[in-house]
Amino acid sequence: MLRAYFARNGIECSFYGRTPERPNVVARLRGGDGPSLCLLSHTDTVLADPREWERDPWSGEVVAGEVWGRGALDMKGQVAASAVALASLRREGVELAGDLVFCSVADEEVGGVGDDVGYGLRWLVEAHPEAARCDYALNEGGGERLVIGGRPFYLCATAEKRSSPFRLRVRGRSGHASMPGIADNALVKAARYVTTLGELRPEPRLIPEARAFLEALLGRAPEPAEALALARSHDPLAAAALEPLLAFTLAPTMIEASHKHNVIPGLCEVTVDCRLLPEQEPGDVEPLIRAALGHGDYELEWEEGVGGTRSPLATPLWDALAAFTAGIEEGATLVPFACPGFTDSHYLREAFGTVAYGFFPIKEMDTRLAIELVHSANERIAIADLELGVDMLRAAALALLGR
Ligand SMILES: [Zn+2]
Repeated sequence: MLRAYFARNGIECSFYGRTPERPNVVARLRGGDGPSLCLLSHTDTVLADPREWERDPWSGEVVAGEVWGRGALDMKGQVAASAVALASLRREGVELAGDLVFCSVADEEVGGVGDDVGYGLRWLVEAHPEAARCDYALNEGGGERLVIGGRPFYLCATAEKRSSPFRLRVRGRSGHASMPGIADNALVKAARYVTTLGELRPEPRLIPEARAFLEALLGRAPEPAEALALARSHDPLAAAALEPLLAFTLAPTMIEASHKHNVIPGLCEVTVDCRLLPEQEPGDVEPLIRAALGHGDYELEWEEGVGGTRSPLATPLWDALAAFTAGIEEGATLVPFACPGFTDSHYLREAFGTVAYGFFPIKEMDTRLAIELVHSANERIAIADLELGVDMLRAAALALLGR
């Protein structure tokens, strides 16, 4: 569909696939040798179970000004808006100072983890860097609208946290469960550590994204310790967005011990999901974790981390998005934040030093509803938000590449 659409609009389009069935689509409006801008997206989605939906998840039905279907928000809506932005600029014969690139990858939701290079951007950046290389990129991961004190704020993801899980291997001594006294139960010892880790609240601090977020929100940056309470008093949603920016987080998620009810485990393994602040390393937080756990019969082993990159805030792309946002509605302001999750922006930042932001403003649909619908049943997007997205992408392209 994309290839046919680009062809109809006289735009060159290439497929790059690790296998032919799952191509990454790259289309390009050639410009001068100035900086390039990539409109980045992904065409894959998570699964949908039709029994949970009020409408067919693959219908694309339009009802009351909304397009229904799996991927409407995450993120075929932005795929479509990016294609339309490119095609409309081509039809208008706009001259560009640098390349405007459309890049929609096939494997964002699942692949590219650990040793698996996947079929999407991670693979593309390694196998065909010339196709993916860009100076600026606009991707998913932002655009939420918060109204605080009557003023609308739009979030732009300029950084992301680093997912850095670790395993806690707690040792005891196995034995027959009928005589607990003769053994040293590793599961019981681990339980205490699980509670400690689950309740650990690291000292908050203000990274640049959190500082800018608070300054836009409150007109000043408060002390880190009072930042969350202040945000909460303004808006619970603002506090929810701010909280992951203030410190690393820990969540014990998996546990494994004895496989027999009558065998006391001599070993218990706890896996802990840990999200570090951008550019924070495991070595920065491990002393704190060990101090909280105290001495004991355990080993702490980090798994390979992923993400944790950031782009600077003072860039021409930021200025372009801030100017556009100011025109969306009265008093609208663009604010930066760090994505608690992982996005493909990471691969571009890491491979090419790309200034990559996550931004697709959602104005018509309530932000809380939009967040709930992603990866869930009844996903849909307002047509007005698709149009706003096209306007934003065009404005960004013209501001950066227009001449
Ligand atoms: Zn997505």
